[in-house]
Amino acid sequence: MNAHSRPADPKKLIKGATGDWEVVIGLEIHAQVTSNAKLFSGSSTAFGGEPNAHVSLVDAAMPGMLPVINEECVRQAVRTGLGLNAQINHRSVFDRKNYFYPDLPQGYQISQYKHPIVGEGEIAVDLSPTEQITVGIERLHLEQDAGKSMHDQHPTMSFVDLNRSGVALMEIVSKPDLRSADEAKAYVSKLRTILRYIGSCDGDMEKGNLRADVNVSVRKPGEPFGTRCEIKNVNSIRFIGQAVEVEARRQIGILEDGGSIDQETRLYDPGKGETRSMRSKEEAHDYRYFPDPDLLPLEFDDAFVDDLKQHLPELPDAKKARFIAEYGLSPYDASVLVAERDQADYFEAVAKGRDGKAAANWVINELFGRLNKEGKEVSTSPVSAAQLGGLVDLIGEGVISGKIAKDLFEILWTEGGDPREIVEARGMKQVTDTGAIEKAVDEIIAANPDKVEQVKAKPTMLGWFVGQAMKASGGKANPQALNEILKAKLGIE
Ligand code: ADP
Ligand code: MG
Repeated sequence: MNAHSRPADPKKLIKGATGDWEVVIGLEIHAQVTSNAKLFSGSSTAFGGEPNAHVSLVDAAMPGMLPVINEECVRQAVRTGLGLNAQINHRSVFDRKNYFYPDLPQGYQISQYKHPIVGEGEIAVDLSPTEQITVGIERLHLEQDAGKSMHDQHPTMSFVDLNRSGVALMEIVSKPDLRSADEAKAYVSKLRTILRYIGSCDGDMEKGNLRADVNVSVRKPGEPFGTRCEIKNVNSIRFIGQAVEVEARRQIGILEDGGSIDQETRLYDPGKGETRSMRSKEEAHDYRYFPDPDLLPLEFDDAFVDDLKQHLPELPDAKKARFIAEYGLSPYDASVLVAERDQADYFEAVAKGRDGKAAANWVINELFGRLNKEGKEVSTSPVSAAQLGGLVDLIGEGVISGKIAKDLFEILWTEGGDPREIVEARGMKQVTDTGAIEKAVDEIIAANPDKVEQVKAKPTMLGWFVGQAMKASGGKANPQALNEILKAKLGIE
Protein backbone atom coordinates (compact mmCIF):
# COMPACT_ATOMS: atom_id res chain seq x y z
CA MET A 1 0.00 0.00 0.00
CA ASN A 2 1.10 3.52 -0.66
CA ALA A 3 2.40 4.94 2.60
CA HIS A 4 0.75 8.23 1.77
CA SER A 5 -2.75 6.84 2.23
CA ARG A 6 -1.87 4.50 5.08
CA PRO A 7 -4.45 4.57 7.90
CA ALA A 8 -3.12 5.64 11.30
CA ASP A 9 -1.42 2.79 13.18
CA PRO A 10 -2.69 2.83 16.80
CA LYS A 11 0.73 1.58 18.03
CA LYS A 12 2.42 4.70 16.68
CA LEU A 13 0.04 7.31 18.04
CA ILE A 14 1.15 9.70 20.74
CA LYS A 15 -1.12 10.04 23.77
CA GLY A 16 -2.09 13.61 24.56
CA ALA A 17 -4.43 15.15 27.13
CA THR A 18 -7.20 15.43 24.52
CA GLY A 19 -6.67 12.03 22.86
CA ASP A 20 -4.30 10.43 20.38
CA TRP A 21 -2.15 12.33 17.91
CA GLU A 22 -0.41 11.19 14.76
CA VAL A 23 2.96 12.63 13.82
CA VAL A 24 3.71 13.28 10.14
CA ILE A 25 7.31 13.54 8.96
CA GLY A 26 8.99 14.38 5.66
CA LEU A 27 12.77 14.50 5.31
CA GLU A 28 15.08 16.56 3.14
CA ILE A 29 18.43 14.76 3.10
CA HIS A 30 21.57 16.54 1.99
CA ALA A 31 24.04 13.97 0.74
CA GLN A 32 27.51 15.01 -0.34
CA VAL A 33 28.24 13.55 -3.75
CA THR A 34 31.28 11.28 -3.91
CA SER A 35 33.46 12.98 -6.53
CA ASN A 36 37.06 14.15 -6.61
CA ALA A 37 36.13 17.61 -7.86
CA LYS A 38 33.42 20.13 -7.01
CA LEU A 39 30.11 20.54 -8.88
CA PHE A 40 31.21 23.45 -11.09
CA SER A 41 34.98 23.67 -10.63
CA GLY A 42 38.01 21.41 -10.63
CA SER A 43 38.93 22.05 -6.98
CA SER A 44 39.46 19.09 -4.70
CA THR A 45 36.68 17.93 -2.38
CA ALA A 46 39.15 16.34 0.07
CA PHE A 47 38.07 16.66 3.70
CA GLY A 48 40.19 18.36 6.32
CA GLY A 49 42.60 20.48 4.23
CA GLU A 50 44.04 23.77 5.47
CA PRO A 51 41.32 26.45 5.35
CA ASN A 52 40.89 27.81 1.82
CA ALA A 53 43.38 25.32 0.35
CA HIS A 54 40.80 23.88 -2.07
CA VAL A 55 39.33 27.04 -3.55
CA SER A 56 39.35 28.01 -7.21
CA LEU A 57 38.38 31.38 -8.61
CA VAL A 58 34.95 29.93 -9.40
CA ASP A 59 34.45 28.78 -5.78
CA ALA A 60 35.49 32.20 -4.51
CA ALA A 61 33.01 33.82 -6.94
CA MET A 62 35.53 36.09 -8.62
CA PRO A 63 33.81 38.32 -11.16
CA GLY A 64 33.59 36.84 -14.63
CA MET A 65 34.31 33.27 -13.59
CA LEU A 66 32.04 30.71 -15.24
CA PRO A 67 30.81 27.45 -13.75
CA VAL A 68 31.35 24.25 -15.76
CA ILE A 69 29.30 21.19 -14.82
CA ASN A 70 31.23 18.18 -13.52
CA GLU A 71 29.90 15.17 -15.42
CA GLU A 72 30.81 12.76 -12.64
CA CYS A 73 28.37 14.51 -10.28
CA VAL A 74 25.63 14.18 -12.91
CA ARG A 75 26.37 10.47 -13.21
CA GLN A 76 26.19 10.04 -9.45
CA ALA A 77 22.83 11.81 -9.26
CA VAL A 78 21.39 9.64 -12.05
CA ARG A 79 22.77 6.46 -10.47
CA THR A 80 21.18 7.48 -7.18
CA GLY A 81 17.87 8.24 -8.90
CA LEU A 82 17.93 4.74 -10.39
CA GLY A 83 18.58 3.29 -6.93
CA LEU A 84 15.52 5.18 -5.63
CA ASN A 85 13.35 3.69 -8.40
CA ALA A 86 12.78 7.24 -9.57
CA GLN A 87 11.93 9.12 -12.72
CA ILE A 88 15.13 10.35 -14.40
CA ASN A 89 14.61 13.71 -16.10
CA HIS A 90 16.57 13.96 -19.33
CA ARG A 91 16.39 17.71 -19.15
CA SER A 92 16.87 19.67 -15.94
CA VAL A 93 17.67 23.28 -15.12
CA PHE A 94 20.07 24.95 -12.69
CA ASP A 95 18.62 27.93 -10.86
CA ARG A 96 20.08 30.62 -8.68
CA LYS A 97 18.69 30.62 -5.15
CA ASN A 98 19.50 34.11 -3.93
CA TYR A 99 20.38 34.92 -0.34
CA PHE A 100 23.16 36.61 1.56
CA TYR A 101 25.45 34.82 3.93
CA PRO A 102 29.16 35.41 4.61
CA ASP A 103 30.00 31.81 3.64
CA LEU A 104 28.27 32.23 0.26
CA PRO A 105 30.51 34.50 -1.83
CA GLN A 106 28.33 34.30 -4.96
CA GLY A 107 25.35 35.75 -3.12
CA TYR A 108 23.35 32.83 -4.45
CA GLN A 109 23.48 29.07 -4.40
CA ILE A 110 23.26 27.20 -7.69
CA SER A 111 20.52 24.64 -7.16
CA GLN A 112 17.65 23.10 -9.09
CA TYR A 113 14.14 24.23 -8.40
CA LYS A 114 11.32 23.66 -10.90
CA HIS A 115 13.15 21.11 -13.03
CA PRO A 116 15.24 18.73 -10.91
CA ILE A 117 17.41 15.98 -12.41
CA VAL A 118 15.39 13.24 -10.64
CA GLY A 119 11.63 13.19 -10.04
CA GLU A 120 9.33 10.90 -8.08
CA GLY A 121 10.46 7.53 -6.78
CA GLU A 122 10.02 5.24 -3.80
CA ILE A 123 11.99 2.98 -1.49
CA ALA A 124 11.02 0.02 0.67
CA VAL A 125 11.92 0.40 4.35
CA ASP A 126 11.97 -2.50 6.81
CA LEU A 127 10.74 -1.60 10.29
CA SER A 128 11.00 -5.14 11.64
CA PRO A 129 11.30 -8.60 10.10
CA THR A 130 7.54 -8.52 9.45
CA GLU A 131 6.74 -4.85 8.89
CA GLN A 132 7.73 -2.95 5.78
CA ILE A 133 6.62 0.46 4.49
CA THR A 134 7.04 2.18 1.16
CA VAL A 135 8.26 5.76 1.37
CA GLY A 136 7.70 8.11 -1.54
CA ILE A 137 10.54 10.23 -2.90
CA GLU A 138 9.42 13.64 -4.13
CA ARG A 139 12.59 14.58 -5.99
CA LEU A 140 16.37 14.62 -6.00
CA HIS A 141 18.24 17.70 -7.16
CA LEU A 142 21.87 18.77 -7.43
CA GLU A 143 23.12 21.88 -5.67
CA GLN A 144 26.26 23.52 -4.30
CA ASP A 145 27.31 23.38 -0.69
CA ALA A 146 28.28 26.63 1.06
CA GLY A 147 31.54 27.44 2.85
CA LYS A 148 31.97 27.55 6.60
CA SER A 149 32.11 30.53 8.97
CA MET A 150 34.52 30.09 11.85
CA HIS A 151 33.75 32.12 14.95
CA ASP A 152 36.26 30.58 17.32
CA GLN A 153 39.57 31.56 15.71
CA HIS A 154 39.89 35.18 16.80
CA PRO A 155 38.48 37.28 19.67
CA THR A 156 36.84 39.94 17.51
CA MET A 157 36.69 38.55 14.00
CA SER A 158 34.99 35.70 12.18
CA PHE A 159 36.85 33.82 9.46
CA VAL A 160 35.51 32.05 6.41
CA ASP A 161 36.76 28.74 5.02
CA LEU A 162 35.63 28.13 1.45
CA ASN A 163 36.95 24.58 1.07
CA ARG A 164 33.42 23.22 1.07
CA SER A 165 32.07 26.02 -1.11
CA GLY A 166 30.84 24.51 -4.37
CA VAL A 167 31.04 20.86 -3.32
CA ALA A 168 28.17 18.92 -4.92
CA LEU A 169 25.22 17.90 -2.79
CA MET A 170 22.23 15.81 -3.68
CA GLU A 171 19.12 16.98 -1.89
CA ILE A 172 16.75 14.04 -1.60
CA VAL A 173 13.25 15.08 -0.57
CA SER A 174 10.81 12.49 0.77
CA LYS A 175 7.04 12.73 0.68
CA PRO A 176 5.41 13.28 4.07
CA ASP A 177 4.99 9.51 4.39
CA LEU A 178 6.66 8.82 7.74
CA ARG A 179 4.57 8.37 10.88
CA SER A 180 6.95 7.92 13.81
CA ALA A 181 10.49 8.60 14.99
CA ASP A 182 11.34 4.94 14.35
CA GLU A 183 10.05 5.15 10.78
CA ALA A 184 12.12 8.28 10.17
CA LYS A 185 15.25 6.58 11.53
CA ALA A 186 14.66 3.41 9.51
CA TYR A 187 14.13 5.51 6.37
CA VAL A 188 17.40 7.42 6.78
CA SER A 189 19.28 4.28 7.54
CA LYS A 190 17.90 2.53 4.43
CA LEU A 191 18.60 5.56 2.25
CA ARG A 192 22.14 5.68 3.61
CA THR A 193 22.61 1.99 2.81
CA ILE A 194 21.45 2.54 -0.78
CA LEU A 195 23.78 5.53 -1.24
CA ARG A 196 26.72 3.58 0.12
CA TYR A 197 26.00 0.59 -2.14
CA ILE A 198 25.83 2.86 -5.16
CA GLY A 199 28.93 4.74 -4.03
CA SER A 200 27.35 8.15 -4.66
CA CYS A 201 27.75 9.33 -1.04
CA ASP A 202 29.84 7.83 1.75
CA GLY A 203 27.04 8.48 4.27
CA ASP A 204 29.52 9.72 6.88
CA MET A 205 27.23 11.66 9.22
CA GLU A 206 30.02 12.56 11.62
CA LYS A 207 31.73 14.54 8.87
CA GLY A 208 28.42 16.09 7.87
CA ASN A 209 28.41 14.27 4.54
CA LEU A 210 24.82 13.22 5.17
CA ARG A 211 22.50 15.47 7.13
CA ALA A 212 18.78 15.89 7.39
CA ASP A 213 16.22 18.66 7.58
CA VAL A 214 13.37 17.09 9.50
CA ASN A 215 9.84 18.38 8.78
CA VAL A 216 7.38 17.54 11.54
CA SER A 217 3.67 18.18 12.00
CA VAL A 218 0.96 16.54 14.10
CA ARG A 219 -2.72 15.85 13.55
CA LYS A 220 -5.60 13.92 15.00
CA PRO A 221 -5.88 10.62 13.07
CA GLY A 222 -7.89 11.05 9.88
CA GLU A 223 -7.57 14.82 9.82
CA PRO A 224 -5.72 16.81 7.12
CA PHE A 225 -2.00 17.52 7.59
CA GLY A 226 -1.14 20.09 10.23
CA THR A 227 1.29 23.01 9.91
CA ARG A 228 4.87 21.79 9.91
CA CYS A 229 8.12 22.99 11.39
CA GLU A 230 11.44 22.22 9.77
CA ILE A 231 14.32 21.21 12.04
CA LYS A 232 17.52 22.06 10.22
CA ASN A 233 20.72 20.10 9.78
CA VAL A 234 20.31 17.16 12.12
CA ASN A 235 23.46 15.09 11.80
CA SER A 236 22.88 11.69 13.35
CA ILE A 237 20.18 9.07 13.03
CA ARG A 238 19.67 9.00 16.78
CA PHE A 239 19.21 12.78 16.90
CA ILE A 240 16.70 12.60 14.03
CA GLY A 241 14.57 10.29 16.17
CA GLN A 242 14.93 12.50 19.23
CA ALA A 243 14.16 15.67 17.27
CA VAL A 244 10.93 14.13 15.92
CA GLU A 245 9.82 13.08 19.38
CA VAL A 246 10.46 16.35 21.19
CA GLU A 247 9.10 18.47 18.34
CA ALA A 248 5.89 16.40 18.13
CA ARG A 249 5.44 16.76 21.90
CA ARG A 250 6.01 20.50 21.71
CA GLN A 251 3.41 20.92 18.96
CA ILE A 252 0.86 18.73 20.75
CA GLY A 253 1.34 20.84 23.91
CA ILE A 254 0.67 24.06 22.00
CA LEU A 255 -2.37 22.69 20.15
CA GLU A 256 -3.88 21.21 23.29
CA ASP A 257 -3.52 24.56 25.02
CA GLY A 258 -5.63 26.05 22.23
CA GLY A 259 -2.67 27.58 20.39
CA SER A 260 -1.56 27.17 16.78
CA ILE A 261 1.72 26.19 15.14
CA ASP A 262 3.77 28.81 13.34
CA GLN A 263 5.52 27.43 10.31
CA GLU A 264 9.15 28.03 11.15
CA THR A 265 12.70 26.78 10.91
CA ARG A 266 14.00 25.31 14.14
CA LEU A 267 17.18 23.87 15.57
CA TYR A 268 17.52 20.69 17.65
CA ASP A 269 19.72 21.00 20.74
CA PRO A 270 20.68 17.45 21.78
CA GLY A 271 22.20 18.69 25.06
CA LYS A 272 18.96 20.25 26.24
CA GLY A 273 16.71 17.80 24.37
CA GLU A 274 14.63 20.61 22.87
CA THR A 275 14.04 22.40 19.58
CA ARG A 276 14.40 26.18 19.34
CA SER A 277 13.17 28.66 16.79
CA MET A 278 15.80 29.97 14.34
CA ARG A 279 13.62 32.02 12.04
CA SER A 280 10.16 32.06 10.55
CA LYS A 281 9.87 29.88 7.47
CA GLU A 282 11.06 31.49 4.27
CA GLU A 283 8.98 30.92 1.14
CA ALA A 284 10.36 29.98 -2.26
CA HIS A 285 9.56 33.46 -3.61
CA ASP A 286 11.84 34.99 -0.97
CA TYR A 287 14.78 33.44 -2.80
CA ARG A 288 13.97 34.99 -6.20
CA TYR A 289 14.78 31.75 -8.00
CA PHE A 290 15.65 32.14 -11.67
CA PRO A 291 17.51 29.96 -14.20
CA ASP A 292 21.26 30.54 -13.96
CA PRO A 293 22.21 32.35 -17.19
CA ASP A 294 25.78 30.99 -16.93
CA LEU A 295 24.59 27.39 -17.38
CA LEU A 296 22.69 25.67 -20.17
CA PRO A 297 19.91 23.30 -19.22
CA LEU A 298 21.39 19.91 -18.38
CA GLU A 299 20.47 17.35 -21.03
CA PHE A 300 21.37 13.73 -21.70
CA ASP A 301 19.93 10.83 -23.68
CA ASP A 302 18.66 7.31 -22.96
CA ALA A 303 22.01 5.76 -23.79
CA PHE A 304 23.67 7.76 -20.98
CA VAL A 305 21.10 6.51 -18.45
CA ASP A 306 21.06 2.93 -19.76
CA ASP A 307 24.81 2.65 -19.46
CA LEU A 308 24.70 3.79 -15.83
CA LYS A 309 21.83 1.41 -15.11
CA GLN A 310 23.75 -1.54 -16.51
CA HIS A 311 26.71 -0.84 -14.29
CA LEU A 312 24.82 -0.39 -11.04
CA PRO A 313 25.83 -2.89 -8.37
CA GLU A 314 23.27 -5.31 -6.95
CA LEU A 315 21.27 -3.17 -4.51
CA PRO A 316 20.30 -4.15 -0.94
CA ASP A 317 16.71 -5.29 -1.63
CA ALA A 318 17.76 -7.53 -4.50
CA LYS A 319 20.66 -8.90 -2.47
CA LYS A 320 18.40 -9.62 0.49
CA ALA A 321 15.92 -11.52 -1.70
CA ARG A 322 18.77 -13.48 -3.25
CA PHE A 323 20.30 -14.36 0.14
CA ILE A 324 16.92 -15.70 1.29
CA ALA A 325 16.42 -17.77 -1.87
CA GLU A 326 19.98 -18.91 -2.42
CA TYR A 327 21.21 -19.53 1.12
CA GLY A 328 17.91 -20.27 2.91
CA LEU A 329 18.38 -17.36 5.32
CA SER A 330 15.62 -15.84 7.43
CA PRO A 331 14.53 -12.36 6.32
CA TYR A 332 15.99 -10.98 9.53
CA ASP A 333 19.44 -12.51 9.03
CA ALA A 334 19.42 -11.43 5.39
CA SER A 335 18.59 -7.83 6.42
CA VAL A 336 21.41 -7.74 8.92
CA LEU A 337 23.89 -9.02 6.35
CA VAL A 338 22.94 -6.66 3.51
CA ALA A 339 22.95 -3.50 5.65
CA GLU A 340 26.53 -2.87 4.53
CA ARG A 341 27.95 -4.03 1.25
CA ASP A 342 31.26 -5.22 2.69
CA GLN A 343 29.40 -7.27 5.32
CA ALA A 344 27.32 -8.91 2.61
CA ASP A 345 30.46 -9.64 0.58
CA TYR A 346 32.17 -11.14 3.60
CA PHE A 347 29.17 -13.39 4.27
CA GLU A 348 29.08 -14.58 0.68
CA ALA A 349 32.76 -15.43 0.74
CA VAL A 350 32.09 -17.59 3.81
CA ALA A 351 28.83 -19.08 2.52
CA LYS A 352 29.80 -19.94 -1.07
CA GLY A 353 29.65 -23.72 -1.43
CA ARG A 354 28.84 -24.20 2.26
CA ASP A 355 25.80 -24.39 4.52
CA GLY A 356 24.39 -20.84 4.22
CA LYS A 357 22.58 -20.89 7.55
CA ALA A 358 25.64 -22.08 9.44
CA ALA A 359 27.71 -19.42 7.69
CA ALA A 360 25.18 -16.68 8.56
CA ASN A 361 25.11 -17.84 12.15
CA TRP A 362 28.89 -17.63 12.50
CA VAL A 363 29.16 -14.32 10.67
CA ILE A 364 26.33 -12.59 12.53
CA ASN A 365 26.59 -14.02 16.03
CA GLU A 366 30.27 -14.71 16.48
CA LEU A 367 32.05 -12.39 14.07
CA PHE A 368 29.79 -9.29 14.10
CA GLY A 369 29.26 -9.72 17.83
CA ARG A 370 33.00 -9.71 18.41
CA LEU A 371 33.72 -6.88 15.96
CA ASN A 372 31.07 -4.81 17.66
CA LYS A 373 32.46 -5.49 21.10
CA GLU A 374 35.95 -4.43 20.05
CA GLY A 375 34.84 -1.46 17.94
CA LYS A 376 36.13 -3.00 14.72
CA GLU A 377 34.68 -3.22 11.20
CA VAL A 378 34.49 -6.10 8.76
CA SER A 379 37.25 -4.40 6.78
CA THR A 380 39.60 -4.61 9.77
CA SER A 381 38.48 -8.03 10.99
CA PRO A 382 41.32 -10.14 12.39
CA VAL A 383 39.51 -13.25 11.11
CA SER A 384 39.25 -13.44 7.32
CA ALA A 385 36.33 -14.91 5.40
CA ALA A 386 38.61 -17.74 4.27
CA GLN A 387 39.49 -18.59 7.88
CA LEU A 388 35.88 -18.49 9.03
CA GLY A 389 34.89 -20.60 6.02
CA GLY A 390 37.52 -23.15 7.06
CA LEU A 391 36.04 -23.25 10.54
CA VAL A 392 32.53 -23.83 9.16
CA ASP A 393 33.95 -26.65 7.01
CA LEU A 394 35.49 -28.37 10.03
CA ILE A 395 32.13 -28.33 11.85
CA GLY A 396 30.32 -29.56 8.75
CA GLU A 397 32.74 -32.45 8.35
CA GLY A 398 32.26 -33.41 12.00
CA VAL A 399 35.96 -32.78 12.73
CA ILE A 400 35.17 -30.34 15.55
CA SER A 401 32.07 -29.74 17.67
CA GLY A 402 30.31 -26.38 17.85
CA LYS A 403 31.78 -25.88 21.29
CA ILE A 404 35.36 -26.50 20.20
CA ALA A 405 34.69 -24.26 17.19
CA LYS A 406 34.27 -21.35 19.60
CA ASP A 407 37.71 -22.05 21.03
CA LEU A 408 39.05 -22.25 17.50
CA PHE A 409 37.43 -18.91 16.66
CA GLU A 410 39.15 -17.38 19.67
CA ILE A 411 42.53 -18.69 18.47
CA LEU A 412 41.90 -17.39 14.94
CA TRP A 413 40.94 -14.00 16.37
CA THR A 414 43.92 -13.60 18.68
CA GLU A 415 46.68 -15.59 16.94
CA GLY A 416 45.53 -16.15 13.36
CA GLY A 417 46.57 -19.23 11.41
CA ASP A 418 45.05 -21.98 9.30
CA PRO A 419 42.00 -23.51 11.03
CA ARG A 420 42.69 -27.07 9.91
CA GLU A 421 46.34 -26.94 10.95
CA ILE A 422 45.44 -25.47 14.33
CA VAL A 423 42.91 -28.22 15.02
CA GLU A 424 45.44 -30.87 14.00
CA ALA A 425 48.37 -29.40 15.91
CA ARG A 426 46.48 -28.73 19.15
CA GLY A 427 44.52 -31.96 19.28
CA MET A 428 41.14 -30.25 19.04
CA LYS A 429 39.58 -32.93 16.88
CA GLN A 430 36.26 -34.30 17.97
CA VAL A 431 36.41 -37.85 19.34
CA THR A 432 34.21 -40.01 17.17
CA ASP A 433 36.01 -43.15 18.25
CA THR A 434 33.08 -44.82 20.01
CA GLY A 435 35.43 -47.05 22.00
CA ALA A 436 36.98 -44.05 23.74
CA ILE A 437 33.59 -42.50 24.43
CA GLU A 438 32.24 -45.78 25.77
CA LYS A 439 35.14 -46.07 28.14
CA ALA A 440 34.49 -42.61 29.57
CA VAL A 441 30.77 -43.34 29.90
CA ASP A 442 31.42 -46.64 31.68
CA GLU A 443 33.61 -44.91 34.21
CA ILE A 444 31.01 -42.28 34.99
CA ILE A 445 28.26 -44.87 35.34
CA ALA A 446 30.38 -46.97 37.65
CA ALA A 447 31.23 -44.00 39.86
CA ASN A 448 27.65 -42.72 40.20
CA PRO A 449 25.22 -45.57 40.95
CA ASP A 450 22.77 -43.18 42.69
CA LYS A 451 22.52 -40.96 39.60
CA VAL A 452 22.02 -44.04 37.44
CA GLU A 453 18.98 -44.95 39.58
CA GLN A 454 17.60 -41.41 39.33
CA VAL A 455 17.94 -41.07 35.58
CA LYS A 456 15.69 -44.10 35.03
CA ALA A 457 12.78 -42.24 36.69
CA LYS A 458 13.77 -38.83 35.40
CA PRO A 459 15.21 -38.95 31.86
CA THR A 460 16.03 -35.22 31.86
CA MET A 461 18.90 -36.18 34.19
CA LEU A 462 20.61 -37.42 31.06
CA GLY A 463 21.98 -33.90 30.63
CA TRP A 464 24.08 -34.38 33.73
CA PHE A 465 25.72 -37.50 32.25
CA VAL A 466 26.32 -35.75 28.94
CA GLY A 467 28.00 -32.92 30.80
CA GLN A 468 30.24 -35.24 32.79
CA ALA A 469 31.26 -37.27 29.77
CA MET A 470 31.94 -34.13 27.72
CA LYS A 471 34.12 -32.80 30.50
CA ALA A 472 36.00 -36.08 30.68
CA SER A 473 36.68 -35.84 26.94
CA GLY A 474 37.88 -32.25 27.18
CA GLY A 475 34.81 -31.12 25.22
CA LYS A 476 35.85 -33.18 22.25
CA ALA A 477 33.35 -36.05 22.29
CA ASN A 478 31.07 -36.11 19.28
CA PRO A 479 27.79 -35.01 20.92
CA GLN A 480 25.60 -37.26 18.81
CA ALA A 481 27.66 -40.37 19.39
CA LEU A 482 27.87 -39.57 23.08
CA ASN A 483 24.11 -39.24 23.39
CA GLU A 484 23.46 -42.52 21.68
CA ILE A 485 25.99 -44.41 23.76
CA LEU A 486 24.66 -42.94 27.01
CA LYS A 487 21.05 -43.80 26.19
CA ALA A 488 21.95 -47.34 25.25
CA LYS A 489 24.02 -47.91 28.39
CA LEU A 490 21.46 -46.34 30.73
CA GLY A 491 18.61 -48.10 29.00
CA ILE A 492 16.50 -45.02 28.27
CA GLU A 493 14.75 -44.03 25.08
P1 ADP B 1 9.70 23.52 1.00
O1 ADP B 1 10.20 23.58 -0.39
O2 ADP B 1 9.00 24.73 1.45
O3 ADP B 1 10.75 23.08 1.97
P2 ADP B 1 8.34 21.07 0.33
O4 ADP B 1 6.96 20.95 -0.17
O5 ADP B 1 9.45 20.82 -0.59
O6 ADP B 1 8.51 22.45 1.04
O7 ADP B 1 8.45 20.06 1.53
C1 ADP B 1 9.58 19.93 2.24
C2 ADP B 1 9.47 18.67 3.08
O8 ADP B 1 8.42 18.81 4.02
C3 ADP B 1 9.18 17.41 2.29
O9 ADP B 1 10.05 16.39 2.75
C4 ADP B 1 7.75 17.08 2.65
O10 ADP B 1 7.53 15.71 2.69
C5 ADP B 1 7.63 17.65 4.03
N1 ADP B 1 6.28 18.04 4.40
C6 ADP B 1 5.38 18.71 3.65
N2 ADP B 1 4.25 18.91 4.33
C7 ADP B 1 4.42 18.37 5.57
C8 ADP B 1 3.61 18.27 6.74
N3 ADP B 1 2.39 18.80 6.82
N4 ADP B 1 4.13 17.64 7.81
C9 ADP B 1 5.37 17.13 7.78
N5 ADP B 1 6.16 17.20 6.71
C10 ADP B 1 5.71 17.81 5.62
MG1 MG C 1 12.76 22.67 1.71
